[in-house]
Amino acid sequence: MKISRKRFLQIGGLTLCAVACKTAVGELLDIGEGNSPSAPGAAPATRWAMVVDTAKCFKKDGCTDCIRACNKAHNVPAINDANHEVKWIWKESFENALPSQANPYGGEKFRDKPVMVLCNHCDKPPCVRVCPTQATWKREDGIVMMDWHRCIGCRYCVAACPYGSRSFNWVDPRPYIAELNPSFPTRTKGVVEKCNFCEERLVNGQLPACVAACPEKALVFGNVADPKSDVRQILESRFTLRRKPELGTQPNVFYLV
Ligand code: SF4
Repeated sequence: MKISRKRFLQIGGLTLCAVACKTAVGELLDIGEGNSPSAPGAAPATRWAMVVDTAKCFKKDGCTDCIRACNKAHNVPAINDANHEVKWIWKESFENALPSQANPYGGEKFRDKPVMVLCNHCDKPPCVRVCPTQATWKREDGIVMMDWHRCIGCRYCVAACPYGSRSFNWVDPRPYIAELNPSFPTRTKGVVEKCNFCEERLVNGQLPACVAACPEKALVFGNVADPKSDVRQILESRFTLRRKPELGTQPNVFYLV
């Protein structure tokens, strides 16, 4: 079939227009950050989320069971130098973890209470957006992953995360691992790491290490896309807070206060 030059240019123009529109719509919907690229608009089958019940957490003064369980499971090095430290879970004062949430009357009581914090596995993760090598990406189940083999150590993601959830290995972390877990990879100098919501345990039907270790059952983890899950029931029935909601990152770690 012969096509005239004029018709050829018309078809070419329409094709370019369609591609441009698709790109623009994709950017508006944040397609490309791993948000259900296969079925835009469809509800995901699994969407992992965590609820931290701060009242239960505060009950056991000085408890670090969740942190120790996480460090052990993931070979997180214990580097005793604030400039080089690596952390997946840590505690922040209430004032820093949930700024502007304390009222002027009850504020004193909570201001210095230690609140457990970690990567929020944000729905709109700025860390993913800035990574030049796609070493970090968001899975369809909501987990923001890291591929240490693809990380070039540029630390754009560290700068982009507004929660300080990422650590850079300034030194070889392996000599600082207290008790090596041979079933989880160690990292090297020059790469970024962070919490992975224990994706290696979830595939085996286990809860995240921190959730399993908490003596107060202060951490609830589950599939928020399932209306019957504990995590969803809490979110439907209780008022919860998220860290820095004004930034629009849409964290998947929620706080009961
Ligand atoms: Fe990325 Fe930080 Fe959000 Fe985790 S908390 S997904 S590192 S922006």
